[in-house]
Amino acid sequence: MVVQERDKPFRIAIVGGGIGGLFCTLAIHHHCSAAGVPVAIDVFEQASQYKEIGAGVGVGINAARLIHKLGIGQKLNAFAGHRTGVWISFRRFDNSEDIMTVSVKDDQAIRQAPCARTDLLDLLRETIEQREAATLHTKKACKRVEDAGSSVRVHFADSTTAEADLVIACDGIHSVVRDTFIVDKPVFSGTIAYRGVIPIASLSNWPFPSYSVAWLAKHRHLLVFPISKNEQLNIVAFVTKPEEDVSDVKESWTSICDRKDVEDDFAGFDKTPQEVISLMPEQPSKWKLNDRKPLDRWHYMGGKVVLLGDAAHAMLPHLGAGAGQAMEDGWVLGRALSEHLSGAKNSHFESLESTAKLYQTVRLPRAQKTQATSRAAGDTYEMQSAEMLEKTFEECIPFIAEQTRERMKFVWEEDLDAAYEKIRDGLDGKEPNGNGPSTIAAGKAVVPDVSAVSIEAQ
Ligand SMILES: Cc1cc2nc3c(=O)[nH]c(=O)nc-3n(C[C@H](O)[C@H](O)[C@H](O)COP(=O)(O)OP(=O)(O)OC[C@H]3O[C@@H](n4cnc5c(N)ncnc54)[C@H](O)[C@@H]3O)c2cc1C
Repeated sequence: MVVQERDKPFRIAIVGGGIGGLFCTLAIHHHCSAAGVPVAIDVFEQASQYKEIGAGVGVGINAARLIHKLGIGQKLNAFAGHRTGVWISFRRFDNSEDIMTVSVKDDQAIRQAPCARTDLLDLLRETIEQREAATLHTKKACKRVEDAGSSVRVHFADSTTAEADLVIACDGIHSVVRDTFIVDKPVFSGTIAYRGVIPIASLSNWPFPSYSVAWLAKHRHLLVFPISKNEQLNIVAFVTKPEEDVSDVKESWTSICDRKDVEDDFAGFDKTPQEVISLMPEQPSKWKLNDRKPLDRWHYMGGKVVLLGDAAHAMLPHLGAGAGQAMEDGWVLGRALSEHLSGAKNSHFESLESTAKLYQTVRLPRAQKTQATSRAAGDTYEMQSAEMLEKTFEECIPFIAEQTRERMKFVWEEDLDAAYEKIRDGLDGKEPNGNGPSTIAAGKAVVPDVSAVSIEAQ
């Protein structure tokens, strides 16, 4: 059992300063501060600044709830878009007729927060700086990690090294830390995405001011949702293509194309979606959508290295859930670490390895379910699922409503703290540890939780 000596902080190296890495930093700081255990966190980001490129990200209610628990939810709401009763409307590509509308009760302080990635990352970074939660490094591209006995040595491209008691790999889908332990590659989904953001005011007439709209056709669908106080429209245009046709496309903001490519791919769509496309930047981003095969182990070197976010469970964007799942990882890891470091009396916290195992036990099944469901959702929207593959557009319509209705519920409605406590305390019927509840109540919410959103398909 470890009780962290007060004068000797536990050293944590976070590799990668994206949404997962920065949220995890704040979550560890939050839980460890509450438990009174000193930690020294260093974040190592390969880029020259902590910046996301201008696109949108849907922060689901599950992730928004965690951001509120960190005490920065009001700031999130101040720059996010907001829904007014409807979450998404699925429409026919050719005449915009409604296929299915999903409503969402979203009038609480803790709610869906579709926002600009830059705003979200800035909020996380500024909060880290204000709380002095970590030292943020830039231009530190990790090349590999090495077992140094009781610690881990992180090697960087500039030939420097850093030593830590724990390394958390938050370096995304192409994680080099993951590559140290596993031989696998990103898996192409069969779909690419064009991405862009436009001001809503630039559209001649926009009848859907507060919610997402997806125009669906066979092998193509155009998703848009308002971000930034509903002033900007985030656009993701998905197209299914054979792999040989997209060999030049990368999973990166550096991969761009001519707007004409999008216009050609979405020929035949109704007037409103066509206008949206016509207002995209002249050279929109063109992404290859990859995920990874499920990974059954997220901790290595006796628990001294753990994977988090896309490094652990890269998923397709069709549930808008990858960043939220990364935040859930960070929250649970923060809780588990604070209990381990403060010597909580529970067999899960006897060693770093057993603590890392608890983190994995809580998070892996849910993240993998989200990964698999994201793939299935993409197949539904592109009309590629087994039931729809051979069917015409008209024949596919009933399947869309049926296959979509229940999908978001499990992502949004999870009570993450309750799930964590159940497993920690051996009440899940799987891994009883016999020691009863932990002796500290880490992870106290800064603001009270509110009831989950209710989701209802019309
Ligand atoms: C088209 C599209 C739309 C999406 N929409 C949504 C959405 O609406 N909602 C949602 O929740 N999710 C969405 N996602 C998924 C979401 O973007 C990812 O799941 C999320 O960004 C993962 O966060 P991460 O921090 O794990 O990885 P990343 O965001 O990839 O961050 C990794 C960080 O590590 C850094 N890094 C990489 N390698 C190294 C290295 N060797 N050394 C040091 N630093 C390194 C990178 O520069 C980066 O800053 C979408 C994804 C796509 C492709």
